[in-house]
Amino acid sequence: MHIKQIDPDITKYLEAELNRQREGLEMIPSENFTSRAVLEALGSVATNKYAEGYPGRRYYGGCEFIDKIEQLAIDRAKELFDAEHVNVQPLSGAPANIAVYEALLEPGDTVLGMDLSHGGHLTHGHPVTQSAHIYNFIRYKTNTEGVIDLDNLRKMALEHKPKMILVGYSAYSREIDFEAVKAIANEVGALTMADIAHIAGLIAGGVMKNPVPIFDVVTTTTHKSLRGPRGGMILCKKQFAKAVNKAVFPGLQGGPHENVIAAKAIAFKEALSPEFKVYAAQIKANAKALEVVFIENGYNIMFGKTENHLLLVDVMSSKNVTGQQAEEALDKAGITVNKNMIPDDPRSPFDPSGIRFGTPALTTRGMREEEMKQIAGWMHEAIINHEDDAKLAAIREDVKQLTARFPLYEGLSYERGE
Ligand SMILES: *Cc1c(COP(=O)(O)O)cnc(C)c1O
Repeated sequence: MHIKQIDPDITKYLEAELNRQREGLEMIPSENFTSRAVLEALGSVATNKYAEGYPGRRYYGGCEFIDKIEQLAIDRAKELFDAEHVNVQPLSGAPANIAVYEALLEPGDTVLGMDLSHGGHLTHGHPVTQSAHIYNFIRYKTNTEGVIDLDNLRKMALEHKPKMILVGYSAYSREIDFEAVKAIANEVGALTMADIAHIAGLIAGGVMKNPVPIFDVVTTTTHKSLRGPRGGMILCKKQFAKAVNKAVFPGLQGGPHENVIAAKAIAFKEALSPEFKVYAAQIKANAKALEVVFIENGYNIMFGKTENHLLLVDVMSSKNVTGQQAEEALDKAGITVNKNMIPDDPRSPFDPSGIRFGTPALTTRGMREEEMKQIAGWMHEAIINHEDDAKLAAIREDVKQLTARFPLYEGLSYERGE
């Protein structure tokens, strides 16, 4: 029986969510729209199978086809990122990071990680996380030009003698000099870890530098710019393969989600195609097109500029509008972004000074520079008119007309059962 007969309530909300995704402009830089093939694999019979262990070494019978699926995912990821070893089982980005800490660190070990307000991620040692209770995280920052202060990072590394140096961020819009960080790590005998959760698609598409051949271990999500299912992955040098595998299972997780791993394999195949290179380049070009209009309209762009898929904009200093006010106004206009701290934000995380937005999802819909210019104009109008509900409703109508020209999941309907 179809979902619409079994559960009309869930069907109704899924249809509403589908329409929300269709009619709005999705600009949260960590979101994307997977292919229909990826959705199909997520809803496949692979979800029924227990497969604790790894291909060829399982604790359950009946894994002959699941082994093929997981091995394909591994082989494709290796090719895509030029990796020596890959583990595709992490359930998401946060558990992938926790597994790496478990694999490579002892409790109390020191890790240098980027400060959250400078673009780092919670899982990089923020005091509210479990990892911060186990390991000694020390935070580095960007300099006044908005780039990672490598001289200071080196000074901190020499002073604190970290076991590991961690780079890779959630709100940082610049390239990362992996070679320079690796040289600092070598000088102090530290391990190197890159968390490419946000930029994996840009790296796979060849438009950003790839840390995998340089660093000891790299973690990523598969659902952000890489455009796969919600999940995580660890890529590392051969010498860490055993420790990483052991940390993921049985260290941290139980049975792998093989339906998600099938979907990851499909996403990697898609990412290996020539079209994905075009997609990745367009993500960057679209972010630049947004940046041009924001600069024209007098906004203060954090970190100096964008060299990837996202922008962090200080709306408070630019327009005397808080991040919360801007997020709400844009929401009313049908444009989804998120409020975000700016480096050393004087305001609170609940109502910070900035907003963060990016282009992976809009680019998947087929939008290009011309649409970006129009959208950036609407964003500016929404921000400066954040108290004018009629104006915001008018923008929402324009947004609806634009999105109608870029169909999403054509033909899909939960209520019609298609
Ligand atoms: C999104 C993100 C994560 C966490 O991923 P989840 O899948 O939400 O657990 C980890 N690190 C970075 C840098 C991220 O941007």
